[in-house]
Amino acid sequence: MALIVQKYGGSSVADAESIKRVAKRIVDTRRAGHDVVVAVSAMGDTTDELLELANEVAPIPAPRELDMLLSSGERISMALLAMAIHSMGFEARSFTGSQAGMITDSQHGAARIVDVTPVRLREALDEGAIVIVAGFQGFNRDTRDITTLGRGGSDTTAVALAAALDADVCEIYSDVDGIFTADPRVIPKAQKLDHVSSEEMLELAANGAKVLYIRAVEYARRHGVLIHARSTFSSAEGTYVLGEGMKNPREAEGAVMEEPIVAGVATDFSQAKITVAGVPDVPGKAAEIFKIVAKSGANVDMIVQNVSATGRTDISFTVPKADAAAALKALAGDQTEVGFQNLIHDDQIGKLSVVGAGMRTHSGVSATLFEALSAGGINIEMISTSEIRISVVLRDTDLTEAARTVHTAYGLDGDSDATVHAGTGR
Ligand code: ASP
Ligand code: MG
Repeated sequence: MALIVQKYGGSSVADAESIKRVAKRIVDTRRAGHDVVVAVSAMGDTTDELLELANEVAPIPAPRELDMLLSSGERISMALLAMAIHSMGFEARSFTGSQAGMITDSQHGAARIVDVTPVRLREALDEGAIVIVAGFQGFNRDTRDITTLGRGGSDTTAVALAAALDADVCEIYSDVDGIFTADPRVIPKAQKLDHVSSEEMLELAANGAKVLYIRAVEYARRHGVLIHARSTFSSAEGTYVLGEGMKNPREAEGAVMEEPIVAGVATDFSQAKITVAGVPDVPGKAAEIFKIVAKSGANVDMIVQNVSATGRTDISFTVPKADAAAALKALAGDQTEVGFQNLIHDDQIGKLSVVGAGMRTHSGVSATLFEALSAGGINIEMISTSEIRISVVLRDTDLTEAARTVHTAYGLDGDSDATVHAGTGR
C-alpha cells in the first residue's frame, strides 16, 4: 500500500461529468489499496472568470480581497469532488488550504509556502477517508488571512502535500499525456518522454514548456518528491520527473531506459527584443542600462553586446513582451544621462532552446543545432547557453520551422504524429 498524492487541473474538473470521471479515478486508486490525497484546481476557467469579475468592480482589486475571491474557485471543485466520491460509496473529506495546514508568507497573489502542518489530513487518512485539498491557496499566520500561490499554484500545493506527507508519488493530471520532447502543437512529431530530470524540466519550463509549473518542480527537487505527469483521459503512464538520485520506477520493473543527450526542444513566443543603440563604449554603461531596466520591473533574459568600431556600441536584450513598454519608457526617460543614440523595439522574435543534461559530457551538441539552422537557411540573432541548454533568438516567423528542423536533427522525432495530445496542459 502506498500514499499517493494526485493533482487534477482545471481542465480535468471542468464540469459535472468530468468531476465524476475524476472521482472514479480516485476511487479506483483507493480500491487498489492506496491512501489518496487529492489537490484540485478550480473548474475550467473559473479563476480567469473571477479575475474578470474583480476587474469589473475595481480597476485595481485589493490584494487581500482578490485572494478571498480567487480561493473560492477551488472550494467549489473540492466540495463537488468529495460529494461525487461519497455518492460512489467512499468516504471523502474536503479541506481548504488553511484547514490542510498550508502555511505561507503574507504575499497576496504570489505567496510562498513556508510550512505544511497536515494534522487534519493525517487524521482523516487514519480514519480511512480520501482527502481532497483545495489547491492554489494557503494561510498566513501573522495576518491570519487567506493567500493564493500564483497562477497554476495547485501543482505546488500537490507537491508540498506529497513532501509533508512523505508520499510515494505525486501524480499531476492534466489534459496532456506527459512531458513531450517539444510542444506537440508546434512539432507534431514530438514524443512523450518516459522520464526527464528535474533540472532539465526546470530549463524546459523556464524556456517556454508549459506542462508543469517551475515553482512546483523546484519544490519537488528540494524535497525529493517524485512527480508523475500524466493524463486524466487515459490510463497510460505519463512522464516521471526525477530528482537527484531518483530512478524511473519502471526501470526498477525491468524496463530498459535510454538516456538521450537532448531531452527536448522548447519554443517561446513571449519575448521581445530591445536594442539600445549607440551606447558610449566606456565602463559603467551596461550597469547604468540594466539598473534602469531592473527598476522598471522588467525581467531580462538574454543579452548581447556588439563590438564597437567607432567608440559606440549596441546592447540588445530580451524581456517578456508584457514588460517591454515599461523598460522602453524608463530607458527613454534617461537617454541623455546614459548618452545612447536610440532605442529599437522588436516584438517579432522567437526563442528556441535545446535542453539536455547530456550536454555536460558530450561534445558537438551546439554544432548540431547550428548546422540544422544553417541548412534550413535560418538566421540567428542572439545566442545564450547554460550548462545544459543552448538558446537562440530568431525571427518569430522562423521559429516553428526551426524547431521542427532541430527536433529532427537531434533524432527526437517519433514515428507518428502526437496530434491527439493537443491539450492546454492545465
Ligand atoms: N486555479 C488556479 C489557476 O487557474 C490554480 C491552478 O489552476 O493551479 O491559476
Ligand atoms: Mg486553473
